[in-house]
Amino acid sequence: MGHRLVKWIRLIGVTVFVTGAPIALSEYVLSHHALSLGRQEARYIAAQYLERAEVATGEALSLLSEIRTSNHEDCSAESRQFFGLKAFGSKYVSQIGIADETGALMCSEPMGALAQPARLPATEQGDPTVMLGILSDRKTMRQAIVTLRINDHNRLVARLSMQALDIEAGASYFQDNAIVGVYLEDGAEWMKQVGNWQPTSESDTIIENAVSERYPIKVMVTASTAAALSNINSLRTMTIVMATIGGVLAFGFALWTTLRASEGDAFSRAVRNREFIPYYQPVFDLFTGEIRGCEVLVRWLRPDGTMVPPGQFLPYAEATGLIRDITRQLMTQTVSDVGELYNRNPGFKLSINLTAMHFNDLEIMEDIKQIYGDSLIRYEQLCFEVTEQHPLKDIALSRAIIGRIQALGSQVAIDDFGTGHGGLAYLQKLGVDIIKIDKMFIDHIGTDHSSQTIVDTLVDLGNQLGLGIIAEGVERTDQVEHLKSIGVATAQGYIYSPPLSAKAFLEFARKAQGDVAPARTAPDAEAEAEVGESFAALTVDEADPAAASDADASPDLAEEQRPAA
Ligand code: C2E
Ligand code: CA
Ligand code: CA
Repeated sequence: MGHRLVKWIRLIGVTVFVTGAPIALSEYVLSHHALSLGRQEARYIAAQYLERAEVATGEALSLLSEIRTSNHEDCSAESRQFFGLKAFGSKYVSQIGIADETGALMCSEPMGALAQPARLPATEQGDPTVMLGILSDRKTMRQAIVTLRINDHNRLVARLSMQALDIEAGASYFQDNAIVGVYLEDGAEWMKQVGNWQPTSESDTIIENAVSERYPIKVMVTASTAAALSNINSLRTMTIVMATIGGVLAFGFALWTTLRASEGDAFSRAVRNREFIPYYQPVFDLFTGEIRGCEVLVRWLRPDGTMVPPGQFLPYAEATGLIRDITRQLMTQTVSDVGELYNRNPGFKLSINLTAMHFNDLEIMEDIKQIYGDSLIRYEQLCFEVTEQHPLKDIALSRAIIGRIQALGSQVAIDDFGTGHGGLAYLQKLGVDIIKIDKMFIDHIGTDHSSQTIVDTLVDLGNQLGLGIIAEGVERTDQVEHLKSIGVATAQGYIYSPPLSAKAFLEFARKAQGDVAPARTAPDAEAEAEVGESFAALTVDEADPAAASDADASPDLAEEQRPAA
């Protein structure tokens, strides 16, 4: 229970992490990016305003200089006309005039702009030649003026139009969320543009300044951080969507691996619960019809009664190494299942399938000795099969292990010979005692000439090397005939019997011995019934109906195999 809870917590943890981490990370990166873009934008706005202020001031100054150099620095009618003309032609200067030392305007053009006559501050000793000031006639209307001293008393004055700083700068997201202020050096405010937004805290604001190098002008832009961040809203939404998709996928994956793991757990639990049991397929002498022993074939008998054939779980058992435990359990079980039978029949052989993994170290030797060392089944009765299907990792070590098995008195067979990796090299290097000719070749006896030739050649090869030969998967009488004709004495197959439960095998062996009629004949109905049962529970590929009917349809053979009375 607690274990399962931990699993779920881990599962949810993985999902939350896989979803949350990218969101958090992108949030960090995006907001960083957005803030830096915002600051850049604010700097740009400040620079735009500053540039305009500088252009307007520069224009005013150049107009005033022009007036001075052209000797129009007086209030004569001609000069005033000149002022008016210049102001009219200027983009940012709305009025030009002359002020006296008290700051009162002596004259200015065009007159219309003087609706509110302005008064400048009085001149002071040591004032610079050029001065920049702000006139605030009304609270809301501020105008900048540029003055240029003519003599000790009088100054030329250019009033900058209200439109001088009327610009629109900056990205739309700042339009209503920024405050732009243009100031003179002494802090006097030339212009201040305020949107709907008011800064509430320092963390909520981006402040960027631009200071003129030519004139005493400074621009300050205060913008809303939130507005800058809102800029990434679409990206943020996209990230959340992507991360959520990622999270869902991660959850699916984690769920899958968890389920896989619990499947794995179910399998190891099955191993612990000893749900893997041996079935026994009898092996016969083709000439005498006598039972020679059997091959142990594993079955997974699940608690619900279903029987799983080895093809469905062996790859997993091998990949996880659990095959070692399974093999150990099977061997142990054989002692209690057929120990008595083997003890009574010292000539019986018991074949046990090993995998390539068993030849990686000496563990199997320990298992064999521990299980059979002091048992009713003697080492001499054992045969260990090594399949050619999966390559052996270390040939030298495998050879050494085979040598030790043989030293005990047991035999070693090469299984599925001719179908896998080893070929002749295995025969040469491994030093096995028996070749098992695969069903694949036996199947083609009588139907496919080249396969039949292969069988003949393999048999010939085995004979030449002095090896025993067992034919596998014999299903038809013509196969039996052919095998006999080329001198193969030992075989197993559905024609005689499928793999049987321990009980059915003991029964089968008892009858076969008493009756010496190995093929399934009518008197064997009881055993057959059990065979049928156990078989029906298996998959179709094992209980090949064609094979079964073939096997059933062989009473002649049974007859034939009865020793002449
Ligand atoms: P294998 O060692 O070649 O075993 C012979 C397979 O052929 C068995 O399938 C057997 O039931 C089936 N068979 C026997 N006679 C006939 C026949 O006349 N017709 C047909 N159609 N099939 C026949 P099974 O029991 O499904 O085993 C499949 C394979 O799984 C075995 O092939 C063996 O490689 C592996 N295996 C089975 N038990 C064990 C085990 O305990 N340990 C290991 N490592 N492998 C095992
Ligand atoms: Ca085998
Ligand atoms: Ca085989």
